[in-house]
Amino acid sequence: MAKRYYITTPIYYVNAAPHIGHAYTTIVADVLKRFYMLRGYETFFLTGTDEHGDKIVAAAKEAGETPQAYVDRISSLFRNLWPKLNIINDHFIRTTDLEHKKVVQLILERVNANGDIYFSEYEGLYCFGCERFYTERELVDGKCPDHQKEPEVIKEANYFFRMSKYQDWLINHIKDSPGFIRPERYKNEVLSFLSDPLEDLCISRPKSRLDWGIPLPFDDNYVTYVWFDALINYVSGIGFPDGELFNKFWPYAEHLVAKDILKPHGIYWPCMLKSAGIEPYQHLNVHGYWNINEGKMSKSLGNVVRPLDLVGIYGLDAFRYFLLREMVFGLDSEFSEEALVGRINSDLANDLGNLLHRSMTMVQKYLGGHVPEKVDPQPEDVGLKEAALHTIDQYETMMEDLAFHKALISVWELIGRVNKYIDTMAPWVLAKTDRPRLESVLHHIIESLKIISVLIWPVMPASAERMQQYLGLEKTGANLILDDVRQWGRQKSVRAIVKGEALFPRVEMKKEMPHTEEEKPMEEEKAQLISFNEFQKLDLRVGTIRNAESIPKSKKLVKLTVDIGEDRTVVAGIAGHYSPEELVGKQVVIVANLEPAKLMGVESQGMILAAEDETGIYVLTVDKEVKPGSKVR
Ligand SMILES: [Zn+2]
Repeated sequence: MAKRYYITTPIYYVNAAPHIGHAYTTIVADVLKRFYMLRGYETFFLTGTDEHGDKIVAAAKEAGETPQAYVDRISSLFRNLWPKLNIINDHFIRTTDLEHKKVVQLILERVNANGDIYFSEYEGLYCFGCERFYTERELVDGKCPDHQKEPEVIKEANYFFRMSKYQDWLINHIKDSPGFIRPERYKNEVLSFLSDPLEDLCISRPKSRLDWGIPLPFDDNYVTYVWFDALINYVSGIGFPDGELFNKFWPYAEHLVAKDILKPHGIYWPCMLKSAGIEPYQHLNVHGYWNINEGKMSKSLGNVVRPLDLVGIYGLDAFRYFLLREMVFGLDSEFSEEALVGRINSDLANDLGNLLHRSMTMVQKYLGGHVPEKVDPQPEDVGLKEAALHTIDQYETMMEDLAFHKALISVWELIGRVNKYIDTMAPWVLAKTDRPRLESVLHHIIESLKIISVLIWPVMPASAERMQQYLGLEKTGANLILDDVRQWGRQKSVRAIVKGEALFPRVEMKKEMPHTEEEKPMEEEKAQLISFNEFQKLDLRVGTIRNAESIPKSKKLVKLTVDIGEDRTVVAGIAGHYSPEELVGKQVVIVANLEPAKLMGVESQGMILAAEDETGIYVLTVDKEVKPGSKVR
C-alpha cells in the first residue's frame, strides 16, 4: 500500500449558513489530513457544497433570489469560512459545477446500462421537508419523524434504482471489512436496518414539480434526486472516471459524516458504487452531535452567543483544541463557553503555556539561548526521554483510531511529566552548583518540547508553529514530521531559543460581546470605583522575604515567610516564575489585613502583590530598601 490518504467531509447543504456542526466535521477532517502529513503520507482533502433540490428552491424564493444567485451566495459563506478556521482543503466542490454534472450523468448511464434502473408509477407518502417518500413503518404516529408533519399522498411516475439487488452483498461487505462503518454502534445501526428487506430508491423528480437539478441522461423530463447527485461528489471531486487524482486517491477514501446522514452514506452510496462498478470506500467515520448548553454561554443583546463567534473572542487554536479534546468521537457532547474557558486556562495557559514559558526563560537566563547537543544523561533524564518517545507511539495509535481526546490526553500527560521533571530537577539550583547537570536537564526539557510541538500541530497548527519558531527550529509545521522527532536530538535549534509572547494567555468568560461594550450603562463603571475610606481600609506593608519553599504537589504555589515587623506566612502563586532562592531577601508589598485562607493545607496570612502580563508574573517591590513593616500609602 502506498502511503496515501483521502479524506472527505459531506458537501454541506446550502439551505442555511454554517454552524458548529459543519465546523466540527471540517476541523476533524483537517486534523486528520495534517496528522497523515506528519506521517509522511500524500494526502487529499475534499469539501464543498450540495446545491440542488426543492429545499434550495424554497429557500431562494424566501430570500427573493434565483436559485443560482442564492446558492452562489451561501456556498461562498462556507468557502470563505474555512480559511478563517485554518482549514487546508485541497479542493472545494459544488454540485452545480459542470464537471460534477457530467460525472453524475455518466454514473447514471452506467447504472442504467447495468439494468439497475427501472421506470414505475408510484403512489406514496411524501414529506416535502425531507424531499422523499416515506414507508408507513418509518413514520412516527403517522408523521415524518424529522418534521413532525403528516406526509402527503402523491402519485408520480419515476425512475428507481434497484438497491434491493445489493442488499446481501452490502451485508456481507460490512461484516467482512472491519471498520467499514465506525465506530461499531453505527455499523450495528446499519446492519439492523438491513435486517429488513431493502426497498429500491426513487432517484428522479419530474421537471413539472422541480427543475433545479441535474437532468437524467436518458429522460429529459426528469432531474436527479438530490442524494443520488450529492453522494457522487466524492468521486467527481477527484476526477472520476480516469483522472490522475481519482486513480491515486480513491483506493484510500475515508468519509467523515455526522450521524444524521448515516443511511445515505452507509447504504445508498455503497450500493451505487457497486452498481457503477467502482470499489467501495475504505471507511465511513461517523460522529455525534454538539448540544449547546445555553445556560453556560454569554449573551449579546439578549441572544445567546453562537459557538463560531467564540473563535474571534478566544482564538482559533483554543477553539480547535476544545472541539477535539472535549468530544469522544462517535458520541454526543455538550458545548459551552464556560467549559471552553476552563480548558484554555487549565490545559493551555497553565499546563502547556507555563511549561514553554518557564523552559525558555531558563534556557535564556542560564545558557544564553543555546542548548548543548552533547550531554551526559542520568537515569532521570533517560526516563523523561523514554516517556516522550513512547508518547509519540501512543499518540499515533490513538489518532489512527479517531480517539482524538485520548491522543491529546497522552500529550498532556507528557506535558505534566516535563513540568514535574523541572520541579524535581530544580535547574535554578543546578545553575549555581552543577553546570553539566544543568545542561543535560535543559537539553532534555527542550527535546521534549520539540516533540510536543509536533504532536499538537494537527490540532493547533499556528500555535505549534510559533512554538517551533521560539525553539529555534529550521523546519516547522508540515515540514517537521514524526520521523524527525523520533530521533532524539536530530532536530537541532539553528537559532537561539527566544522567550516569545505567551502562547495562551489566561482568559475570563466575557459577559458581553465586545461590540456591545460601549453601550454598557455608566452605573456599571461607577460600581467599580471605591471611596477613599474604602481604600484606607487596606493595610499594605513592605515586607522582606526571610524564607521560601515550594509546596509539594503544587506547581504554582510557594510558601513564604515575610518579615513585616513580625513574621507572616504567605502563600503565593508564583512558583513557576521564581525559584525559592531568587525570592529570599527580596522586599515585596503585602496586603496585611486580608482574611487568612488555607491553600494546599497551609494557612496564608496575607497576599503578595504582583503584576502579570503575557511574559510572566513579577512581584511588586520598592525603589530603595526600607524597614520591614513600612506602610504603603
Ligand atoms: Zn420530513
